[in-house]
Amino acid sequence: MPFVWRMQGGMNRRTILILGTLALVLITGVFSLRRLQADREYSSDQFLMDTLISIKVYGRNPETLKKAVAEAYAEMRRIAELADSFPPPGSAAAETSDICRINAQAGKRPVRVDGDTLGMLVLAKKYCELSGGAFDVTVGPLMDLWGFGGKNPQLPPADRIKAALAKVGSKDLVLNQQDGTVFLRRAGMKLDLGAVAKGYATEKALQVLKNHGIEKALIDAGGNIRVLGRNTHDAPWRIGIKDPRKSDAIVAVLQLEDASAVTSADYYRGFEAGGKRYHHILDPRTGYPADHNISVTVVTNDAGLADILSTVFFVLTPDEALELAGKMAGVELVLVSADRRIRHTPSLQGAIQVQPAAGYHYDPQGKMARRIELAPGTKSSFVVDGRVGPSAVEVDGTRVRMVEAPCAAGTCIKQGWIAHPGQTVVCIPGEIMIRIEGAAPLDAVTR
Ligand code: ADP
Ligand code: MG
Repeated sequence: MPFVWRMQGGMNRRTILILGTLALVLITGVFSLRRLQADREYSSDQFLMDTLISIKVYGRNPETLKKAVAEAYAEMRRIAELADSFPPPGSAAAETSDICRINAQAGKRPVRVDGDTLGMLVLAKKYCELSGGAFDVTVGPLMDLWGFGGKNPQLPPADRIKAALAKVGSKDLVLNQQDGTVFLRRAGMKLDLGAVAKGYATEKALQVLKNHGIEKALIDAGGNIRVLGRNTHDAPWRIGIKDPRKSDAIVAVLQLEDASAVTSADYYRGFEAGGKRYHHILDPRTGYPADHNISVTVVTNDAGLADILSTVFFVLTPDEALELAGKMAGVELVLVSADRRIRHTPSLQGAIQVQPAAGYHYDPQGKMARRIELAPGTKSSFVVDGRVGPSAVEVDGTRVRMVEAPCAAGTCIKQGWIAHPGQTVVCIPGEIMIRIEGAAPLDAVTR
């Protein structure tokens, strides 16, 4: 029996979305038609960049899949080696690492580097400027002082933090793209690409897979997620965002196609001192761990950019982060602030389901217009009042579509029928969304 009800309570007037949500009773078997049965999965795991990397690819030819993945890992390893700042001076690895060579010549001379090293640093410097110094890859002297790279991190005395701060600042990171050189102008400066290299390498690996003709893949680089195409059910990939205070839970599910989701959070690599917890994402303007947020997830089409931005937004205040993200085309942000509020950019609405556990606050933007239970053999239609006028929705058994919209573009109508949990139809001018509820399994978790 279909049922219809109305929920009131619009919160944020500026960004009201009218949600028409349809609960689907999923009959297993009927909907699990695997259109892509001919596709094989090939998956493989490797330890790289201090984390476990997992690559899954899908396609017809097992040999191609295997070869593509091997080359993707080789490319990741190459980037990891260029960017490694940990090998001991004088070792072979330190010679391979552009970052080590640049650091060794700080205050002395420019160093010729690989195009990808320069590429990472150009991006890093750009987002340092854009974030007013909240993000800064010259944070190395501070990271060393806190000891987050090693076994015994500890709270440094204030005067030593002040001294280390004097050696931080990307204004003295000189990038010469013509000559392909990098120069740290002052002695004692030190680059740390911990917030950049993993995402950059992930994106390069994804491009390798694409060059082999692969159209469906998932790379999970220690929780930095990059997906290509749609998942094996021919639906958007379902990526969970880990609950920052409960390791076996998630706070939201993202639905992604050909996109990346990267999380920066305070629950990795930290320690306690004097009853307070300290973690590895520092505010280069103060020298202390950034404490406005506990988890920040960025969704955008490039994993390199997502990795940089997750650290940028983590250091900024939630308001600053949401404002800056709102100005960047194609960049979405979900954050859990220190006061346990879950917030996200409004345009993510159609692609996120927030499932806040106890202790978190989430104000869904907009109000529920109708909720209908889908049942085979039933038909109905109804009208939803959107921002630009009424739109008509048609329900046919377990399928739903938009049939009339007051705008000229009517893109929501062209999207056609939807029938699977997690699928949505979004009318942007009308600020209306139809979503089929239901829990399909997750493809990965960003953490
Ligand atoms: P994770 O490495 O846990 O995925 P991030 O991508 O946020 O998390 O990167 C954190 C790392 O970036 C730190 O371990 C350190 O190497 C470096 N880092 C810390 N603070 C900053 C900062 N404010 N700007 C740039 N890099 C930073
Ligand atoms: Mg990052």
